[in-house]
Amino acid sequence: MSARQDRGWIAIAGLGPGDEAMVTPEVTAALDAASDVIGYIPYVARVAPREGLVLHPSDNRVELDRAAAALELAAQGRRVVVVSSGDPGVFAMAAAVFEALEAGPAHWRDLDIRVLPGITAMLAASARAGAPLGHDFCAINLSDNLKPWSLIEKRVRLAAEADFAMAFYNPRSKARPEGFERVLDLLRAACGDQRPILFARAVATPEEQLRIVPLGQARADMADMRTMVIVGSSLTRVIERAAGPILYTPRSASGPAS
Ligand code: SAH
Repeated sequence: MSARQDRGWIAIAGLGPGDEAMVTPEVTAALDAASDVIGYIPYVARVAPREGLVLHPSDNRVELDRAAAALELAAQGRRVVVVSSGDPGVFAMAAAVFEALEAGPAHWRDLDIRVLPGITAMLAASARAGAPLGHDFCAINLSDNLKPWSLIEKRVRLAAEADFAMAFYNPRSKARPEGFERVLDLLRAACGDQRPILFARAVATPEEQLRIVPLGQARADMADMRTMVIVGSSLTRVIERAAGPILYTPRSASGPAS
């Protein structure tokens, strides 16, 4: 980032799922070069304070205001890193910054803007469990904050019909516990009771917990807002081992090599 020191810039960076070892060197370099870090409170808390670095922790509900504030700081010559957990392009701040850019003043468009990828929760969870996303898959955000519930149900239904493995972000909140129950009912109807489902909670943190059960035994309270849920396709298999099961989807749609 040294060539960028003389003028303002903005990097929208992913901090990965939790473990320091999963923060990319590119993101670490951007944080080292930054004058300002902006983001939701728990994500900013993951950045070590140091002299010359201004931390701007903010509430999660004001994404667009936060994005506009970050762009304006960069326009004033500051070196700004906007932090997200996981990857910033997956249900996170990168799209919010570009929405603010598109709606904002013309001078913002001359800014040096970069998106620095991170390891998204879906991939960290998948790696811990084995390789459930080894064949075609889709990712769906189950939060109805930013889209109607009917669209969520439609996407889950069609994804199950298309026989994708499915990765679900934001499965369950205190505010709408019944939504995830309905998704589980829909999945059982479409995929049957034997289909494996993974609940991966707080992956890559000290509280990490993995659970694989057949859909028939899945309960909504197995997930919370720190849980990534992955449902296998019809090909997904479980290898039972003393050290814990492995969940994987074979590379070929005709099944595992025999
Ligand atoms: N940008 C983030 C996702 C933000 S949406 C990313 O790329 O990972 C927030 C959702 O991500 C949570 O509700 C949860 O479903 C999932 N999530 C984030 N971190 C997680 C972790 N360490 N373990 C399990 N799920 C996680």
